[in-house]
Amino acid sequence: MVHPDTYVRPTDKGLGLFAKKSFKKGEIIWIADDLDLKYPLPDYLSFEDNVRSILNRYSYMDFKNRVVIPWDSGKYVNHSCAPNSTGLLEFDNISIALRDIEPDEEIVEDYCCYYGHFETFHCLCGSPHCRGIIGYNNSYDPSLRLRMRDIAGALLSFDQRLLHFKFEENREFLQILSSAQTEYATEG
Ligand SMILES: [Zn+2]
Repeated sequence: MVHPDTYVRPTDKGLGLFAKKSFKKGEIIWIADDLDLKYPLPDYLSFEDNVRSILNRYSYMDFKNRVVIPWDSGKYVNHSCAPNSTGLLEFDNISIALRDIEPDEEIVEDYCCYYGHFETFHCLCGSPHCRGIIGYNNSYDPSLRLRMRDIAGALLSFDQRLLHFKFEENREFLQILSSAQTEYATEG
């Protein structure tokens, strides 16, 4: 589920997801829920090409080799080589603000923080560090993800609105968060 304080509007890359309010570093912007579509990779690959050519834009593959298609506007997050949101090493299906994000700023992720994605495209991010062509294969770079030990302080420092929604899909994350609370919260 995407954070409710976001909106979608057209960009030169197609539709994009934007912040409606300011987000703090460590704020959860998206987390998988029980409503998202999830297909084992072989099932996904068995879809007809013309179906996958559309779904490939909106899907990614997780650590369990499931292809995930967010049911809401979470699927409109565009790629940037200078992202402001990314995943967590310890829990796959979550997006967390990498830094403070201003209202009306586009929320962007480096697609190579996903375990797998299905598009090859010429990047239009405009970053001085733009990598140009973003390929679909062998692209996962774990160094693009946050580590709990680095983000726990920020993550635990305020009320996370998306965690008000309880889903089976998030149970593992809540356990990880609870361990982090014990491990890191007292370190200051
Ligand atoms: Zn780029």
